[in-house]
Amino acid sequence: MKYDVIIIGAGPGGIFSAYELVKQNENLKVAVFEAGNPLEKRKCPIDGKKVKACISCPTCAIMSGFGGAGAFSDGKYNITNAFGGTLYEHIGRDQAIELMNYVDEINVSHGGEGTKMYSTAGTGLKKICMQNKLNLLDASVRHLGTDINYVVLENLYAELKDKVDFKFRCEVERLEILEGCAAKQVSEGVDGTEGVDVRTAKSGCGYRVHYAGGSDECDRCIVSVGRSGSKWMQQVCEDLKIPTSSNRVDLGVRVELPAEIFSHLTDELYESKIVYRTEKFEDNVRTFCMNPYGIVVNENTKGIVTVNGHSYEDPKKQTKNTNFALLVAKHFSEPFKDSNGYGESIARLSNMLGGGVIVQRFGDLIRGRRSNEKRIEEGLVRPTLAATPGDLSLVLPKRILDGIIEMIYALDKIAPGTANDDTLLYGVEVKFYNMEVDIDENLETIYNGLYVIGDGSGVTHSLSHASASGVYVARRIASVIA
Ligand SMILES: Cc1cc2nc3c(=O)[nH]c(=O)nc-3n(C[C@H](O)[C@H](O)[C@H](O)COP(=O)(O)OP(=O)(O)OC[C@H]3O[C@@H](n4cnc5c(N)ncnc54)[C@H](O)[C@@H]3O)c2cc1C
Repeated sequence: MKYDVIIIGAGPGGIFSAYELVKQNENLKVAVFEAGNPLEKRKCPIDGKKVKACISCPTCAIMSGFGGAGAFSDGKYNITNAFGGTLYEHIGRDQAIELMNYVDEINVSHGGEGTKMYSTAGTGLKKICMQNKLNLLDASVRHLGTDINYVVLENLYAELKDKVDFKFRCEVERLEILEGCAAKQVSEGVDGTEGVDVRTAKSGCGYRVHYAGGSDECDRCIVSVGRSGSKWMQQVCEDLKIPTSSNRVDLGVRVELPAEIFSHLTDELYESKIVYRTEKFEDNVRTFCMNPYGIVVNENTKGIVTVNGHSYEDPKKQTKNTNFALLVAKHFSEPFKDSNGYGESIARLSNMLGGGVIVQRFGDLIRGRRSNEKRIEEGLVRPTLAATPGDLSLVLPKRILDGIIEMIYALDKIAPGTANDDTLLYGVEVKFYNMEVDIDENLETIYNGLYVIGDGSGVTHSLSHASASGVYVARRIASVIA
């Protein structure tokens, strides 16, 4: 089969590429190859009773399938260049924001009508943060919630399914460049491509996409494989000699406390991204993924159990607690480059000690003792995740832990009660990032017509940036074809 465009991956990046391609030109033949299942068949077998731990399904229902890693997420679409990726470095700040707003309009018109948009614009909280050495980053955030996010995905699929060929449970094994498709730019280390200019090599390009039992061809290919496709992406870059560079890893804990303590922030902003520069090491510690009235959950990345959180829009499903992560970024370059490997090792250590995620009261951490069932039971905060009581100081490196403790005391000044003894810390939370793929202002690789977008490119780390990158590339392609 020959397509105009093949998209690899049906996460937000892939979905919004497909949406925009057929919107721009309904005659385009577009296919989406997705390793995971359609939305309605995405079911994680862990039920806490019969299946308690990961059984390593062929594709992970949480990370893969229509909707990608974001399908069961909190559905927080942050509209900002301040975090969530560096798409603006490629396409410009104004255009990045414009596209994130466009994505928001589509989400709203596909089921998100009743949801709320929060904003830091004009908030007095910024000043209070500054007075306490905290930097509240500017953003607007649409909170769809796990429930409405699912509805939006259902509606997008219903609209696209007759216009686009979706191939589920179809993992792309290999990407082959058809003859005549020259690498497009002078790029150090790319064999035999020096001096070849893409603008003169427009014709003759194409790609063959190999999967179990067959292959299909296309003129243009959009790779949007997200975090779960990181190893595959690395292999493709090695095979095709596409330059890459290492990225960072974020390490830390998830904090859970009574929702009242943060309600003046969450009621107005829903999610506040606050950065604190530590006095001891001058590291940046930041809040991440704030879930008012939410729940703390396990996250399983290829057998390594870390912690995450989400919350529902529906008040009936909400809890009395708010949770958020406190993270410190670490980026290794020489001689050790494997930032993700470093994060993985620390997560494995916590899994070794706790059999999964560890939970500790802040008061116990400060007193240098492990938490136990009794102390947690007697505390004021009811944990929303059944984790193993333990000692996070045996897991997290001192530098990171010291930074987190400093940040908790800093937050206590703007949200008194944050540093209460009973505040719960779950660990470890790790945010892995893909290596950065060398892409240009069109999000195109050194190969003409081969685009890498979303989290798989290492350029985006969020729903809104990944989605915006999909729209951007679709418009580029539609304009070239027209
Ligand atoms: C639990 C959780 C909660 C989150 N909450 C939020 C949030 O509230 N707000 C926010 O901004 N971000 C959130 N994120 C991050 C967000 O989900 C990602 O940034 C976003 O999904 C990235 O989109 P993407 O399309 O680039 O990749 P993904 O969503 O990862 O999609 C990639 C898709 O490609 C498929 N794929 C991979 N390799 C192949 C292959 N070889 N062949 C075929 N298919 C392949 C995968 O199966 C997957 O479905 C959360 C993530 C998680 C895990």
